[in-house]
Amino acid sequence: MDPSIALRIYRALAKRYPEALEEDDGRPGDPFRVLISTILSAQTTDRQVDEIAPELFSRFPAPEALARASPGEVEAIIHPTGFYHVKARNIIAASRVLIRDFRGEVPAAMDGLLTLPGVGRKTANIVLARAFHSPAGIAVDTHVRRISRRIGLSEETGPDRIERDLTALYPRELWGSINFLFITHGRTLCTARNPRCPECPVRQDCRYFRNLTKNGTSLPHGKRRAKRKNEQSRSGR
Ligand code: SF4
Repeated sequence: MDPSIALRIYRALAKRYPEALEEDDGRPGDPFRVLISTILSAQTTDRQVDEIAPELFSRFPAPEALARASPGEVEAIIHPTGFYHVKARNIIAASRVLIRDFRGEVPAAMDGLLTLPGVGRKTANIVLARAFHSPAGIAVDTHVRRISRRIGLSEETGPDRIERDLTALYPRELWGSINFLFITHGRTLCTARNPRCPECPVRQDCRYFRNLTKNGTSLPHGKRRAKRKNEQSRSGR
């Protein structure tokens, strides 16, 4: 895709979802809280993590406290976020690595973050963007993946390759906010099932929508039938 079209898509989404850009307000978050919250947010909603965060961080405000916690204590708090056995193990282990290897500080670089248990490239990208406002790439989650492929920003299926395509299309200063925008779009209009394309501000630049309109399937059912009839009568069937 032409980078100027990719930019037009970004601007249209930014106009449609100003609240997503407010989330990315440029103020770095507390790195430890961002790290732990991001690990916990796997397979659940931000709201669920926000609900348990006050208790978790009042009991364990820093890596030193969490590193000494027992899995049972942590599990009792993070239980609503799902996969709580694995998540408790990971956040305790990550806190221990922070103390052992990073003097209790969250590293501000991709290679350091990737040494922490429970942290993959997606999590590391989110931490770099939200905690340090210094994105090293674009976090590709399920929304970013789906939307990028539907629109035609990437043909790839793997998150690393989609990230490579997106970072080639967008200037670095937008990398952090793309994740926020696409997540909001994915929850609002470009949902996994039945995307609401007729309401979408980027439909004219979206390959999925173009294919739908080509097939006539984005039209209401009655019009679709009329279109089919028309085509049949034109072709003499
Ligand atoms: S036109 Fe439809 S498929 Fe394309 S981005 Fe918008 S909602 Fe998603």
